[in-house]
Amino acid sequence: MYDIAKVRRDFPILGREVDGKPLVYLDNAATSQKPRQVLDALTQHYERHNANIHRGVHRLAEESTAAYEEARAKVARFIGAPETTGLVFTRGTTESINLVAHGWGRKNLREGDEVVLTETEHHSNLVPWQLAARDTGARLRFIPVRDDGTLDMEEAERLIGPRTRMVAAVHASNVLGTVNPVERLAELAHGAGALMLVDGAQSAPHLPVDVGSLGCDFFAASGHKMLGPMGIGYLWGRTDLLREMDPFLGGGEMIREVHLDHSTWAEVPYKFEAGTMNVAGAVGLGAAVEYLESLGMENVREHERQLGEYAYRRLSEELEGITIYGPEADRTGVVSFDLPGVHPHDLSQLLDEEGIASRSGHHCCQPLMRRLGVSSTARASFYLYNTGDEVDRLAEALAEARKFFGAFA
Ligand code: PMP
Repeated sequence: MYDIAKVRRDFPILGREVDGKPLVYLDNAATSQKPRQVLDALTQHYERHNANIHRGVHRLAEESTAAYEEARAKVARFIGAPETTGLVFTRGTTESINLVAHGWGRKNLREGDEVVLTETEHHSNLVPWQLAARDTGARLRFIPVRDDGTLDMEEAERLIGPRTRMVAAVHASNVLGTVNPVERLAELAHGAGALMLVDGAQSAPHLPVDVGSLGCDFFAASGHKMLGPMGIGYLWGRTDLLREMDPFLGGGEMIREVHLDHSTWAEVPYKFEAGTMNVAGAVGLGAAVEYLESLGMENVREHERQLGEYAYRRLSEELEGITIYGPEADRTGVVSFDLPGVHPHDLSQLLDEEGIASRSGHHCCQPLMRRLGVSSTARASFYLYNTGDEVDRLAEALAEARKFFGAFA
């Protein structure tokens, strides 16, 4: 049984008020809140073990190194990675994708090669490929999104072909709430002799992920969206591919031997972890994935599916004329919408006055906004600690906002 009251008690911030009203935190696609277990792991690390890793032989250095490597093993297990050597700690999804676009893309892409993306990508899975394409002469192609928020897979089959070297797609959209069939995209990519990268920023926190059954070659995600601290994230990659890739950042720790005019690289994953890493962040992320595992990712997925579908139903039934983007069913807890007559920024402002944290803007998806024919949307995004009552509060506040603006129309 999913005990939501118990879950909520683990998150101290959910007890706070905003202008005397209980906080309703619906900005989880931007970042999640942190449970006591993660906060305690961070404090414990700094109070008891803090030292730089892999370098010292003193007790604290050994303890910190062990904690960091244990965190790597926990995250690898969480996403079903076959070995921990393929798990590279980064600052987050953005850095992970840049690492691949740089270390794999610049080394392997040539003029005439194609990288296939989708129209729904977050800028962090678009701009790094634009830069790699600019430097190599490769071309970017885009799988279109249909009006219902799902990918046009027939077009995907046509686009992915002999020139394709990489298919890179978002697993769960941060705007539409769609879960994309990345398994099928991986099949198409491999059938064409290409590789598959999955942007898991909005999937790893919300659904069971197993990189083996996804069939991808790279998987990128951010700790801060899955109950962990900011400034830590990860890239999982096939070890054979990581070994062949160029390093992303050069410096301490990522080397085997350094001469004045050249250097050789450390084994993976260390080849990609230059300089002092966010050790406490990794430890906190390890605690976050343990917390998620204790709830069960199937339960988390089901809880959010219900919330997402309930929100879709309530908002569309009660707010005449509202446009909710993305599929009606089988969605994640991301609900983007447009309420005619009220600018999304005004809406977020009014919701804030009710203690409701939401987000308005292009959500780092400007090409998708153009495809939807808008410059911005409002967005409520749910997570494992949100409740049906909070959906009700959102619906009521939106109805009030509409009245407020109607009065001045
Ligand atoms: N991809 C998607 C789908 C996202 O939602 C986000 C964060 N909004 C990112 C990538 C980038 O994540 P980060 O800023 O943590 O690197």
